[in-house]
Order: sequence, then structure tokens, then C-alpha cells
Amino acid sequence: MTELHNLTEDHAARRRAAKVMPNGVYGHQSAISLLEGFPQFIQRTEGCRVWDLDGNEYVDFLCGYGIVLLGYHHPLVDAAIEHQMRLADCSNGPGLVMVELAELLVETVDHADWAIFAKNGTDATTTCVTIARSGTGRRKVLVAEGAYHGSAPWCTPRMNGVVDEDRAHLIKFRYNDTASFHAAVEAAGTDMAAVIVSPFRHDARHDQELVDPDFARAVRRACDDKDAALILDDVRCGFRIAHGGSWEPIGVKPDLSAWSKAIANGQPLAAVLGNERFREGATKIFVTGSFWFSAVPMAAAIATIHALRDEGALQKIIAAGDRLRTGLAAQASSYGLTINQTGPSQMPLLTFAGDVDLMRADLWARTTAMNGAYLHPWHNWFMMAAHTADDVDRALLATDAGFAAVRDKFGAD
Ligand SMILES: *Cc1c(COP(=O)(O)O)cnc(C)c1O
Repeated sequence: MTELHNLTEDHAARRRAAKVMPNGVYGHQSAISLLEGFPQFIQRTEGCRVWDLDGNEYVDFLCGYGIVLLGYHHPLVDAAIEHQMRLADCSNGPGLVMVELAELLVETVDHADWAIFAKNGTDATTTCVTIARSGTGRRKVLVAEGAYHGSAPWCTPRMNGVVDEDRAHLIKFRYNDTASFHAAVEAAGTDMAAVIVSPFRHDARHDQELVDPDFARAVRRACDDKDAALILDDVRCGFRIAHGGSWEPIGVKPDLSAWSKAIANGQPLAAVLGNERFREGATKIFVTGSFWFSAVPMAAAIATIHALRDEGALQKIIAAGDRLRTGLAAQASSYGLTINQTGPSQMPLLTFAGDVDLMRADLWARTTAMNGAYLHPWHNWFMMAAHTADDVDRALLATDAGFAAVRDKFGAD
């Protein structure tokens, strides 16, 4: 273990970036919010490991912020990519893989009768909202406070550059709070087009909260009563919770669902899945993009979906997450620190008791990074099938150093 790793090359690259890009690296991958200790740039990836520009190696628990599910450079996905790349990628029309992937998704995902493909999660959530409005002829969209649905003006978390009119028809409710949800339905009146909701509450800077099945059923019932669309934003959780969609285990079917992140194990792809009720609404809109028909990511998605099942990936991911959690709980307790671990094992998050300003979380995550495991102080982490018990145990050496640093600086609870 390296006590304090060297980030000389990384810092030089950041200085170059700042000259030619606003803020240097922007958006969720800007390392500014992660403070010292985290690299900004990644040079190489393999399995569950990533390497920065200075050659430091990390066991990765961010999975490219959720885009990797099997592991980096999964051999069958890489083979599908190379095969399709030699045939065709972007051209005057899509490849047959587009139909094959739509068939596979309709067969795999519970509520789906059709699919539309795009590039990013924001494309998918925005298209769902457009289809809901097209299909209902109504305007109001109910959204949970603090939920992330992408970076377009209607949903970005920052209001700079956004005008009130972009948000004019959004009505807020609190996740898992049926009374506040019913008040929002009431406020929408006869103009309710849709509810958009994530499979569980995974807002940044908060403990995660699993969905209350009664809440999900209340949302389904209200959408049925109002003939509005229930949109499930499965961009982050898709294929992590269940093969058939993240609300399959609780038996609540959305009308429309938005997918991206891991569906092609790291290749750029998004999907909107919908049922018969919204097929007509979907036929009437115009959405497209120069690269939306790219065949390589579609071939990667087909290989990913098959590998997930064939390799029992979900069980491996859950087992790795459980092992990590058990180890973290034992370490925290041995240092006399009170922690809270929330969310499903596949998407863990750890917070420290009373850590309102997140100073403990920052120090912990930073020290952990400097000791060879890459996880996040306040955004949920992701497990992948490539995490073996040995990888988790290696990472636990790093988290132990993190807990020691927190205890030394802030004392035991
Ligand atoms: C990441 C994310 C999005 C946006 O996806 P992009 O690919 O970044 O546009 C939307 N919803 C959820 C829940 C997400 O996690």
C-alpha cells in the first residue's frame, strides 16, 4: 500500500484542461468536488481496476458512474464490439442489431412492448416525458424533489441558463410520501401527463431509501385513474436490481421506462421502453440524433444482456456488495465510528453519523482513494460482476486506512 500516492501527471493534465475547457473537466466527472487525493483522469481500465495517469491502481467502486456492470473489457462484450465495428457502425441506416436488441429487451423487460434507442439517460427521460405528453395531450409532470433525471433544462439540478418556462409544468412531491404525492396529483387536476420516478431514492448527498411498495402501488393507481403515464427512470438501476426492470420484484409495471448507463456495459446507449397504451404517442413524436443508430453499442448491449444471465452476474454483484458492507461495518465498529449503510447491496453508500458538512465522508473517501480503492463520499457506488472476494478484501485494506484517518481527526463517537 502506498501511503500518499503521486498525482504529478494528473495535476499537470488538469492545468492543461483548465486552459481549454470551462472548469477543466465539467459535469459529474469533474474531480473538483472530490477534493485532493482523487485523480481527475483515467488512463486504463481492466476488470474492476482503473489506473490514473501516474500509474496508481484502484479497485473501482464507481464503475464509470454506473455504466459498467460486468466489468471493464468483458471478453464477450469486447468481441461483439470488434465484430460489429468491422461490419458497420454509423451509416445511412441502422443495422439489424437494432431490431434484435429491441426484440431482446421486449422479451426481457416485463412491461415493454416496444423500444426506442438513444445515447444518454437524459435523451431517454426527456423522450419518455415527450411521449407521455404526446400520448395524453396533457402537460403536467410530477417529479420527486431532489431526484436526478438528467441534465436538460427541464431536469438539470442547476438553474443557471434555465428559464422558469422550462419548468412551468413540473409539480413536485416527496419520494415515498403518499400524501404529498396525492397533493401533487390533485394540483395537476385534469392536465396530468405523467409521473416520473426512480426505482428507489438515490439522490446525491442523502442516505438512499428503498421504495415503499405501497407508495409505488399508489403511484400506479393514480396514473390509472388519471390515464397518465407512469415513467420509471431506470437509467441508473436498470439490470442492477432485476432482469425484468427494477420494479419487477414489487410487481408494479410502468408505462414507460428510461434506460442507459450499464445496458451496454460501458458503450454509449440509451433506451426508452413502452407499453401498447403509449405506442401511438411514441409514433407521433420526432426524436433522433446523428449517432442514435450506432450499431456497435447495440451489439454490445445484446452481448451484455446475455452475459448477465449466462454468468449469474446479479448474484455475484450482490455477493460482492454484501462482503464489502460486512467488512465496512466491522471496521467502523472497531474504530468506534457510527455509520449508516443504505441502498441495495448492488449500489451501496456509506455515511457517517452527524456528518452534516460531509467532512468525515470526504476525508474517508479521499484517504481510501489514496490507498487504492475508488469510491465516493456522497454519490452512491456501484458493484460489478468482476469484483471478486479478493478485490473486495484488497479494497477493505484501503477503507481501513480511511476509517483510521477519520477516527484520528474527529475522534470516536
Ligand atoms: C445518470 C442518470 C440520468 C442521466 O443520464 P445521462 O446519461 O447522464 O444523460 C438520468 N436519470 C438517472 C436516474 C441517472 O442516474
